[in-house]
Amino acid sequence: MINQLPPLALWAHFIEFCAIPRPSKHEKAIVSYIRKQGEKYHAIVEQDEAGNILLRVSGSEGYETAPITALQCHVDMVAQANSDSTHDFTKDPLQLQLMDGWLTANGTTLGADNGIGCAAMLALLTDDSIIHGPLELLFTVDEEAGMGGAFGLQPGWLKAQQLLNLDTEEEGEIYIGCAGGVDINSTMELQWQKGHGTFVVTIQHKFKKN
Ligand SMILES: [Zn+2]
Repeated sequence: MINQLPPLALWAHFIEFCAIPRPSKHEKAIVSYIRKQGEKYHAIVEQDEAGNILLRVSGSEGYETAPITALQCHVDMVAQANSDSTHDFTKDPLQLQLMDGWLTANGTTLGADNGIGCAAMLALLTDDSIIHGPLELLFTVDEEAGMGGAFGLQPGWLKAQQLLNLDTEEEGEIYIGCAGGVDINSTMELQWQKGHGTFVVTIQHKFKKN
């Protein structure tokens, strides 16, 4: 049974995420679930114009003055169903199945991207056995259909100096980057030299404020 898998709080939230329809641009219900969890567990709940929701969580006893850490995930999911499925992503809960150690959804995408990250963030809020410093839990909307949430993020909202984005593909890999997106094209002239060696390439970038 999925609800008996450890860590219990993480799976409990993930099961809720799978029960609440959340394709991109239809995130009201899932944001409302996050808001209720935030209010129930005494976080400060804020929302920006883009619809992103932020829970400010105080540090555990003895860690109240530790540096703030921000964690970020997107609440929407890729909505894809098998051709013979009648699943309606705006209304129907996903049908979870656990087989041979793999959790999948029957006939549809599972939305572990990024539901499992959101569930991990909520577990930090709701499981008192996890000791942590002050947290900013940022749940963005509309990632899969144009990154509307990340692009519309309220400037200056986060106070943390470090942010962990929990949206990744491969276990054990860490990407250093930003939660939005930007394309950079650059050209440079190369001077070829004979022989082998190690080259160090340093890239500096500056972003213009619009
Ligand atoms: Zn993702």
